[in-house]
Amino acid sequence: MSKLFVQTLREFPSDAEVVSHKMLARAGFIRKLSSGIYNYLPLMWRVLRKVEAIVREEMDAAGAQELLMPFVQPRELWDESGRWEVYGKELMRLKDRHNREMCLGPTHEEVITAIARDGIKSYKQMPVNLYQIQSKFRDEVRPRYGLLRGREFIMKDAYSFDVDQDGLDKEYDNMAAAYTRIFERCGLATKMVQSDSGAIGGSVSHEFMVITDQDSGEDTVLYCPECGYAANSERAVSELEPEKTRSTLAPKEYHTPDIKSIEDLARHFGEPTNVILKSVVYIVDKKPVVAYIRGDREIQETKLKNALGANEIRLASNAEIEEIGLVPGFIGVKPIEIGAQMIVDNSVEGMEIFIAGANKKDYHVAGKIWATPTCDIGLAKENDSCVHCGAALKVTSGIEVGNIFKLGTKYSAPMNAVFLDENGKAKPYVMGCYGIGISRTAAAAVEAHHDEFGIKWPYAIAPYHAVVVPVSAEQMPVAQEIYEKLQAAGIETVLDDRDERPGVKFKDADLIGFPFRITVGKTIADGLVEFKVRSNGEMITIKPEEVENAIRARII
Ligand code: ATP
Ligand code: MG
Repeated sequence: MSKLFVQTLREFPSDAEVVSHKMLARAGFIRKLSSGIYNYLPLMWRVLRKVEAIVREEMDAAGAQELLMPFVQPRELWDESGRWEVYGKELMRLKDRHNREMCLGPTHEEVITAIARDGIKSYKQMPVNLYQIQSKFRDEVRPRYGLLRGREFIMKDAYSFDVDQDGLDKEYDNMAAAYTRIFERCGLATKMVQSDSGAIGGSVSHEFMVITDQDSGEDTVLYCPECGYAANSERAVSELEPEKTRSTLAPKEYHTPDIKSIEDLARHFGEPTNVILKSVVYIVDKKPVVAYIRGDREIQETKLKNALGANEIRLASNAEIEEIGLVPGFIGVKPIEIGAQMIVDNSVEGMEIFIAGANKKDYHVAGKIWATPTCDIGLAKENDSCVHCGAALKVTSGIEVGNIFKLGTKYSAPMNAVFLDENGKAKPYVMGCYGIGISRTAAAAVEAHHDEFGIKWPYAIAPYHAVVVPVSAEQMPVAQEIYEKLQAAGIETVLDDRDERPGVKFKDADLIGFPFRITVGKTIADGLVEFKVRSNGEMITIKPEEVENAIRARII
C-alpha cells in the first residue's frame, strides 16, 4: 500500500453527480483531464483490464477474432457510407497537415466494412465475426456521470459478416448468449431489452441494461412482469385504454386569458387533462413540425424522429413558433393552414370531443376530432397495458452497458462490399454489430455494488482481491506472511504497510472496495485474525492458514 500509486480523497469531487463518478474519483481510480476525458489510474486500469479479459475470453469462445483498427479515420470512407453528412457534432472532425479531412473514430462500421470488402470475396469465407477493444471518441453534448458518459471511452465493438439473414440471426443469438455470460461474469445482472434501431425500418436491436434505482440510469426501461416484454422507452409500445375521452364543454370558442399549460387549462375548465390536445412544435432537420398528443401523454422524441425519418430534432423556440403563424400556448388544429408539417400520436384517436388552442392569443376552442392518420410517437408509461398480454407495464431506469444490432446491408450495400454467392452472383454482406462499453461497464459495477463507505467490487473485476491490515507494527511479520502466502496462491493482495492509524486503513479499504480484508490485531495472541467480506459485511475470526480457503469458499 505504501508503494501503490493511489491517492484517496477526503471529499467527493464537487462536479460528480452519480455514485460511480464520486467513488471512483475519491478512491483514486480516475482523474479528470478535461470534460468527459479521464485518466485511468493504476487501480482503474486493473479493473478495466479484467473486464477486457472477460470480454476477450467470451468473444473468442463465441468464435469471434480480435483485431485492432486505427483510431483516426479518413473522411472518404464516411462519404461512402453517407455518414459524414449525417453523423452530427458527436463526430470529432479534424484536418491533417495536407488539409485532408479525418475524424476520431466514434465507431468503426466504415473501417471494418472496407476491411471485409478487401478480404471476403466468396461465400466460403463466411461467417466471420471481427472485434476490437479500443478507445472511442464522441463529442457528446452532455458528457457527464464520469465514466458512464465520457467523450473518450473504451469500447469493445464487434462486426459480423454473413451470407444471408439466416446466418445473421444465428450470430445475433450467439452474441446475445455471449453478452449474457460476459455481464454475469462481471458480477452484473442485466436485462436484455428491445431498443430503438433508428429510422431504418424492420431492423432489430437489443440493449443490455444494468437495472438501477438510482438516477444514474440515463435510460428508461418498460417491462412486463407477466410475459417478459422489455424495451427501452425510446422504442417501447403499449396499449392505451380503449375508452374514448370526451370534453363536456359545448363546441365553441372560450376566452382563456394567459392560460397556456395543459394543467392550467384543466383547472380552468374543471376537465381532465386527457380531453386537452397537446401541441408541441419541433424543428426537424431545419423545418417546423407540429406534433399532437393527448394532454396526459408525453411525446417520445426518438419515436418522433424515426416516424419522420429525420436526423436532427429539437424543440422550436417561441420566436420560431410565431414565425410560422402560430401563437405559443394557443396552438390549435385546422382550419388554419399552418406552414408546418403535422404529425399526430395514436392517443389522439380516442379523443372524441376535445379542447385545443384556437390559433389566436388567449383563446381555446372545444370541438371534435378531425380525421387524420395517426402514428406512435408517444412515451409508454407505467401501468399502460402490455401489447402482448395486457398486463400492467412497469418502469425502471437502467444503464446500457452493451448492445447488439442487426445491420443487414446498411453499410455493405452503399459501400459496395460484396461477395460471390454459390451461383457466382455478387451480393452485399449481411452484417451485425455488437458493442460493449468497457469503461461504462466498470462504472456500472460501482453503481450496482457499493454502500455509503465505498465500492464493493465483484471479485472477478476487483483491482485487487484482498487487503491485509496489520493493526500495529508488532503484527507486521504475521501480516507479511499472510500477504506472501495469498500472493503465491494467485490471490491478488495488498499489504497495508503504511504508518497510519487502523481507522484510516479500514476506511481506505472500504472505499477502494477490496472484496476481502484480513486484519491482524489483538486476537493474534490466540492465533486468530479477523476476516471480513466487503460484499455482505460477514466477519469471522479464523487462523491465518485458513484465510486462503475462506476466500476460495466465497468466490465459487
Ligand atoms: P448511448 O445511447 O448510451 O449513447 P449508444 O447507443 O451511442 O449509447 P453504441 O454506439 O452502440 O451506444 O456503443 C456501444 C456501447 O458503448 C454502449 O452500449 C455503451 O455501453 C458504450 N458507450 C456509448 N457511448 C458511451 C459514452 N459516451 N461513454 C461511455 N460509454 C459509452
Ligand atoms: Mg450515444
